Amino acid sequence: MNIAMIGSGYVGLVSGACLADFGHRVTCVDVDAQKVAALQSARIPIYEPGLDRLVADNVAADRLFFTTELASAVADAEVVFIAVGTPSRRGDGHADLSFVHAAARSIAGALKDFTVVVTKSTVPLGTGDDVERIMRETNPEADFAVASNPEFLREGAAIDDFKRPDRIVIGAQDERARTVMGEVYRPLYLNQAPILFTTRRTAEVIKYAANAFLATKITFINEVADLCEQAGADVQEVARGIGLDKRIGPKFLNAGPGYGGSCFPKDTLAFVKTAQDLGTPLRLVETTVAVNDQRKRAMARKVVAACGGSVRGKRIAIFGLTFKPNTDDMREAPSIAIIQALLDQGAQITAYDPEGMASARDYFAQIGYAQNAYDAAAEADCVVIVTEWNEFRSLDFERLKEIMATPVLVDLRNIYRPKDVERLGFAYASLGRPNGI
Ligand code: NAD
Repeated sequence: MNIAMIGSGYVGLVSGACLADFGHRVTCVDVDAQKVAALQSARIPIYEPGLDRLVADNVAADRLFFTTELASAVADAEVVFIAVGTPSRRGDGHADLSFVHAAARSIAGALKDFTVVVTKSTVPLGTGDDVERIMRETNPEADFAVASNPEFLREGAAIDDFKRPDRIVIGAQDERARTVMGEVYRPLYLNQAPILFTTRRTAEVIKYAANAFLATKITFINEVADLCEQAGADVQEVARGIGLDKRIGPKFLNAGPGYGGSCFPKDTLAFVKTAQDLGTPLRLVETTVAVNDQRKRAMARKVVAACGGSVRGKRIAIFGLTFKPNTDDMREAPSIAIIQALLDQGAQITAYDPEGMASARDYFAQIGYAQNAYDAAAEADCVVIVTEWNEFRSLDFERLKEIMATPVLVDLRNIYRPKDVERLGFAYASLGRPNGI
């Protein structure tokens, strides 16, 4: 099939490359000319494991193309995906749909034969209806159907998630659209990925409900970690103890510094706003949002406590800046709030992250950036593990102790066992676990 992917960011580029790998002919479009120029010269503008290879293979096979010319890509396509950003709108937290609406207008003007237009961006309830209306107004003659196909991939494991999804959700009432979407994903359901056909509105709710549920699960275990800390219990064993129950499941039960990233914070907020507008407030999700916001500042307080009650003039090394490992994405990363709070209290920060430092400089020009973990830790009064990159999982503690001013480790991802680190002479703080275990 001929496919146009409008928006070539994390989702558009990964989806486009994977669909090309299924054998479709895919043209990825973006308004960012620099991004397109980079892709055309085989440079991948984001860090996502395996993506460079996948893109190179499919470009070489003449199945994957990049352009800024939306009109020609759309005119040739049987299916057009909208995968542009839907950030939080300034001021009220609703999803900002201006990029989606702009894409809909441009697509409408370029359509030729019957085309299925698919929102892959995460969009609130009713956006499919808006896209359809905007397109009809722009081009009343056009023959098209609008479908919703929310994306569930996770950055850092995006290719595998796209190729081996837990499920594919297609929201479309139009029979022609259902048939075409079935064709797009046929290689996947040959692999037995369940495909769920539903209405557009239901598909839109599924995406937000899934993210809100996961954010709530994370926030739940984070609060239980706080309780364990006071109670002298071990949150990791609690998580295992509840996660073995199949109704609960073991995933998303790792205590941490609060969820971040480009999806959960904005999607939970947008879901809350939609629910309020409909007069059916989601109080559980509202609380999740509030608890998670407070948590990031609480993490800074944990660092201050580990440093003896003040960080003024202290040197703090931050290990990990991105919102999770295996991505360069800094959007809403917990490190941002933690570093800001520590800077406000007079700390000097040196950070190291394997992939995130280029984007981190946009947030913090005034902190130091080191080439590796040990350079960051030199002369430090405290090391804080914020993101659990693999290279922080087997630190050389003897070396750290030698180069640090004081051996204090705050582990916000519970990577280490308290007694192992303490035995090596470190003061160690983690989440929801008593010392000495
Ligand atoms: P992104 O910011 O990385 O990419 C969006 C791209 O769209 C940018 O390159 C931008 O230049 C381009 N763009 C904007 N307007 C355009 C237009 N009119 N025509 C062509 N290109 C245009 O965003 P992302 O992380 O890929 O997210 C895209 C959508 O997918 C969002 O709605 C997001 O919520 C959703 N989503 C993201 C993830 C994730 O892990 N990042 C997962 C699932 C769903």
